[in-house]
Amino acid sequence: MLTNKHPAKRRWLDLAPGDNVLVLAGRDKGKQGEVLRTIPARGKVVVKGVNIVKRHVKAGNQSGSTSAMQGGIIDFEAPLDYSNVMLVCPSCSRPTRIRHVLLESGAGVIQCRHCGEPYERVRRTEAQ
Ligand SMILES: [Zn+2]
Repeated sequence: MLTNKHPAKRRWLDLAPGDNVLVLAGRDKGKQGEVLRTIPARGKVVVKGVNIVKRHVKAGNQSGSTSAMQGGIIDFEAPLDYSNVMLVCPSCSRPTRIRHVLLESGAGVIQCRHCGEPYERVRRTEAQ
C-alpha cells in the first residue's frame, strides 16, 4: 500500500495570503513582503515584490490566457519555496518560527515564539 497518493492534506502551510514574510534564501534574501498566494500542493508561496521574473511577451501571441495583455515585458512574482520564507510576526514584527497551538475554543492557531502571541486568521482554502 505504498503510494504517492498522499496529497498535502495534513500539511497546512503556515502562511496565508496577506501574511508578511521574510525571505531567507535566494536572490531576494532579506526582503520582506506580503504573501499574495500560496500553493500548498507544491509547497510554494508567492510573495509580493519578491523573486520578480521578467518575461518577454509578444503582442497577440498568448497561448490560451486572457488576451488583454499587450506585448512587451511583464514582471511577475515567481513562487518561492515555502521553506525559504519565514513569517514575520504581526505583533512584535520579528521574523519568527511558529508553534501550533490549540485555543480553548478548539481553534488551531499559530503562535509566535518570541512574544507568544497567537496569530489567528481566517483559514482560506485555495481552489488550486
Ligand atoms: Zn511575536
